[in-house]
Amino acid sequence: MRGTATVGPVLELIPARRALLGPGLVVRRALPRGARRSVGPWCFLDHFGPVEAAGAMNLPPHPHIGLQTVTWLLEGELLHRDSLGSVQRIRPGQLNWMTAGEGIVHSEEAPPEGAGALHGVQLWVALPPDRRRCPPAFEHHATLPRLAEGATALTLLAGRLGGMESPATAHSPLVGLDVALPSGGRVRLPLDPSFEHAVLAMEGSADAAGHAFGLGELLYLGDGRHHLDLSADEPARLLLIGGPPLPAPLAMWWNFVGGDREELPPEPAPSPGPRG
Ligand code: MN
Repeated sequence: MRGTATVGPVLELIPARRALLGPGLVVRRALPRGARRSVGPWCFLDHFGPVEAAGAMNLPPHPHIGLQTVTWLLEGELLHRDSLGSVQRIRPGQLNWMTAGEGIVHSEEAPPEGAGALHGVQLWVALPPDRRRCPPAFEHHATLPRLAEGATALTLLAGRLGGMESPATAHSPLVGLDVALPSGGRVRLPLDPSFEHAVLAMEGSADAAGHAFGLGELLYLGDGRHHLDLSADEPARLLLIGGPPLPAPLAMWWNFVGGDREELPPEPAPSPGPRG
């Protein structure tokens, strides 16, 4: 794995790869991807759909260690269950934020009666070394900080940005922001220059810092930026992620994150099953 030293402002287009999630859902996996293993503490990013909702996702119970899972929907709904006893439906505009820490088991499924489309992202946040074995927790946030002007809207999932602060429990500095741009929309986002950032097109295409990117592409921006100009000719929905570059590469095995492979559980048999 490559180290994660600061790089300054760069523009690096990372096409997501197709990956199979569970029994039959093809997703666009934007992280980890090639040499780019993480953006700040964000170490996994799947973009799924839009697909027909009914039965589209059925991830049976599986464990996580050392990370947080973040579920954010643009369309449809999912039902989350976990070993803490949480049972939670999530709909667009809401955030499911699960801290695995020392270990948790969860399942996620599109309700079989679901109609319309399912469309969203799931991300993982690597916990810092002193919090990797923290007690597991589950948070559902029905409302999040939002700034809207006309059809341009910023919704803060994680961290802080421009005077907003997300209620999601973070164990290290980070930012996660949904950006909705109408046709011809533009916005200038304030950034923390100590963070590295990347932006994903979840819908449509856009321009970030003068560089065009489209559906299924993650544009890595490096660090050292004080602001980011985003614009779109057609309606677009973007996801900005960022945080301080990790001081050392992570070990990721199946659904587990740690400092090295030795601290992670052994390979399960016979089959690892879903990763997500
Ligand atoms: Mn999972």
